Amino acid sequence: MKKLCMIPLLAIACLLPLVSVQAAANTEITSVRVATRNDANKPFVRTVLDVSRKVTPRLYIDKSGRYVTVTLPNTKIDKNVQKQYDANSNVVSRIWLTQRSSGTDLNIKVPRQVTAQDVKVFTLPGDKKANRSDRVVVDVNDKSGKVKQWKHWGNESIGIHSSQNTKRTKTGGSSVTVPSYGGSASYSLTKGLKGKTICIDPGHGGSDTGALGAFSQEKNITLAISKKVQTLLQQAGANVIMTRTTDVDVYAPNDGAVEELQARCNIANAAKADAFVCIHIDSYSSADAGGVTAYYNSKTSHDAGLAKYIHNQNMKATNFQDRGVRTANFYVLLHTNMPATLLELGFISNPGEEKALNSEAQQQNFAESIVKGLADYFDNNGI
Ligand SMILES: [Zn+2]
Repeated sequence: MKKLCMIPLLAIACLLPLVSVQAAANTEITSVRVATRNDANKPFVRTVLDVSRKVTPRLYIDKSGRYVTVTLPNTKIDKNVQKQYDANSNVVSRIWLTQRSSGTDLNIKVPRQVTAQDVKVFTLPGDKKANRSDRVVVDVNDKSGKVKQWKHWGNESIGIHSSQNTKRTKTGGSSVTVPSYGGSASYSLTKGLKGKTICIDPGHGGSDTGALGAFSQEKNITLAISKKVQTLLQQAGANVIMTRTTDVDVYAPNDGAVEELQARCNIANAAKADAFVCIHIDSYSSADAGGVTAYYNSKTSHDAGLAKYIHNQNMKATNFQDRGVRTANFYVLLHTNMPATLLELGFISNPGEEKALNSEAQQQNFAESIVKGLADYFDNNGI
């Protein structure tokens, strides 16, 4: 008996190191999600793969531009993960995973030719506290023009989603890591501005001009107003976090919209800001369009209050038309942990408003009204 037992034991002992080496080499793909996104500058289909450990993805596009492959070396598809996915057929014909001995391929067939500029691949670090695993993200831009963009107004994309008036070139295809800070929503609603942490986000900057007027650029007006807001808030005893204070891209020059907008959210989330105010200037194809809008998304119970109080003060600071307080799925409104509002302080495409927005007086008026609105918001405990 004793002698017979020795053989299987030895066999197991020999196998064990091999098994553990094999396990160490294999990162598991534990979940895959596919969604169409239309809340950034351009609609796209996003595929997110949850992975058990950080991986280094590589992007390949075949000569026809119709097959996109992202390789994930040393990964294994978990047995519960489905291998085929449907997506918006205007953007993607088919998504499927193939298991190879060297790893996994994520394959995406597209109905229209794409180049490296149309595909972004990046990784996001895991966050144990937020129960998030490491992720690989693959974004494929819509080339059909048929995916409805989230609109500011009317029948055309305007404002931060303006494409005709915005100079933003994109580089793509490289793997980049966007640092992200997970965080639970904890923000102060006590009275007064003193001691509050407020994040001010001047829209656009650097390689991204934002909307273009007859003689000025959105990025410069948003920065000028934001810096005046910063000064006034600091005088009131608030701790001000600026996503930028000069003419720069917050993430990187010529970056993608998602990285750029996430970088701004990360700054606010890392600072655990109590409120986030994003400043933009609108634009439209008709020079007659004009007015002031405040956008929010009710991800907390206080986003609406923040937008409302600031908007009410803004309307006292200008003779521009009142376009109201509206809900929207804008990226920064959704990806900040604290109450947030995106302000469109008039139209750069409207000659009268462009002139006023470039004046010291109107910039100062808006800066003062934004600060008054913030004070009202806290004095009313955000409701
Ligand atoms: Zn804008």
